[in-house]
Amino acid sequence: DPRLQGISEAIRVVPHFPKQGIMFQDITTLLLDHKAFKDTVDIFVDRYRDMDISVVAGVEARGFMFGPAIALAVGAKFVPLRKPRKLPGEVISEAYELEYGTDCLEIHVGAVQPGERAIVIDDLVATGGTLSAAIRLLERVGAEVVECACVVGLRDVKGQSRLNGKPLYILVEPR
Ligand code: IMP
Repeated sequence: DPRLQGISEAIRVVPHFPKQGIMFQDITTLLLDHKAFKDTVDIFVDRYRDMDISVVAGVEARGFMFGPAIALAVGAKFVPLRKPRKLPGEVISEAYELEYGTDCLEIHVGAVQPGERAIVIDDLVATGGTLSAAIRLLERVGAEVVECACVVGLRDVKGQSRLNGKPLYILVEPR
């Protein structure tokens, strides 16, 4: 797809952020580039529009920057998967491992009905720990997770095996 090169080039790479040795993939510069941003959303929309998806679940915070546009275009609802103590209603939680320590994602009870077909969207997959927590949350509320989608990821994602057997769709590799 000729659009992918423009998408890749619109993502700024910031060395040593947020700490020494990390090559941070900054998608805020993609959001500034109308063509690259629209191409990104269009590629996901073309992929999911005929898959009978009724839930687009976005991972806080950068999944929130792509998920709602995709949800509106494919005719689905948008469900935020949030960090702890952000959602005001009744929630269920899933913990996941970080490099140091653990974190947690939460979903509102009642946001998704059993049997709904869902995709999970985030900006980037590294180990897959975050996405696998998202999958577990959605499966606990009875959703069928059809696929996880990320703008950036390693082709050979170590995390693929941790994605609970769910397919992973990635647009570009980190630079
Ligand atoms: P994982 O759980 O190891 O797959 O890490 C993925 C999570 O870390 C996602 O929610 C990303 O937003 C975040 N993340 C890790 N590295 C980067 C980066 O270079 N740019 C943007 N987000 C990142």
